Amino acid sequence: MKAIVKTKPQRGAELLDVPVPKPGEGQVLIKVRATSICGTDLHIYQWNEWADKRLRKLLPQIMGHEVAGEVVELGPGVKHIKVGDFISAETHVPCGHCYECLTGNMHICLNMKIFGVDMNGVFAEYAVVPEVDAWVNPPDLPPAWASIQEPLGNATDTVLAEDIAGKTTLITGAGPLGLLTIAVARASGATKIIVSEPVEYRRKKAMEMGADVVVDPTKEDVVEVVKRETGGLGVEVFLELSGKESAIHQGFSALVPGGRASLLGLPDGPVTMDLNNEIIFKGIRVYGITGRKMFSTWFKVSHLLSSGRLDPSPAITHEFRLEEFQKGFELMEKGETGKVILYP
Ligand code: NAD
Repeated sequence: MKAIVKTKPQRGAELLDVPVPKPGEGQVLIKVRATSICGTDLHIYQWNEWADKRLRKLLPQIMGHEVAGEVVELGPGVKHIKVGDFISAETHVPCGHCYECLTGNMHICLNMKIFGVDMNGVFAEYAVVPEVDAWVNPPDLPPAWASIQEPLGNATDTVLAEDIAGKTTLITGAGPLGLLTIAVARASGATKIIVSEPVEYRRKKAMEMGADVVVDPTKEDVVEVVKRETGGLGVEVFLELSGKESAIHQGFSALVPGGRASLLGLPDGPVTMDLNNEIIFKGIRVYGITGRKMFSTWFKVSHLLSSGRLDPSPAITHEFRLEEFQKGFELMEKGETGKVILYP
């Protein structure tokens, strides 16, 4: 089969012919119908410091983790998934027996492994998925939508860490995840949605996804814009999807006392905060968001999509054949994409 393989600890990846994998105990083999590129894949493609530390010893490895496909073979011991099921994959692979798994927190399993990072991924014609991660979709769900349910789950947990209906909201960062977050916030009843994003292409996309106001943080004072747009009060909800320290400070400063912040963006290193004035004295509740709850988040995403309340299509900006993966990565580097889909 064709697969995009990270062969060397340097920039790039190769399209290779490799054997179709065999599903092992508790695993299923899928024929991939769509995959999507995540920021993590871009880091692996570019080979940044994180990728070098985490993956150097694991090469060669098939890249990718967001996927949708049809089950074509079952490994020994598979009980619930059937050949022919159209599945998406949760990409956090839990051990099933640590403290977190046993207390309803599989998404932060103490022994967690991740597709395309700790093991072969899904940028290929076929891929192996553990049964515990298989999410069965309605057969008519468009493959691209089915594939991006994974990042949609990140967005959904960011938005719904608490109630958002009727609340004013600031979203910092309108990359692929920020764009999906805008759509989920809109579908969940957020009122005025203010989005801060320096890239013009993405500010335009943010409006298409349902933002009410967009701000370029390099040209305007984000906190002042928020105050102006909220009658001087500040926003009730702050959703951070840029990972940039300046955006984090702006968000906490723009939050009304008693507000809520959900942080999904990953800063490059430690961030210095004035905890007293930015969080404690304001009585702010802060949520760290990682992965997706297994599987309550998947039910929410699935219901939002099937109800017609959530339309992720404007966030799907590019669709390529698997062989054209380089085009996708290069466009992502320029910041001129939402979600990029690859079809084997
Ligand atoms: P991305 O890098 O494509 O998007 C970040 C966006 O923030 C970009 O559009 C960028 O222009 C914008 N930005 C830069 N500086 C800004 C500023 N000062 N103010 C406002 N916006 C600014 O990343 P993505 O794929 O959309 O992911 C968003 C974040 O979520 C990243 O930090 C990523 O590492 C992180 N992430 C976290 C998890 C998790 O489980 N916690 C999972 C996936 C991704």
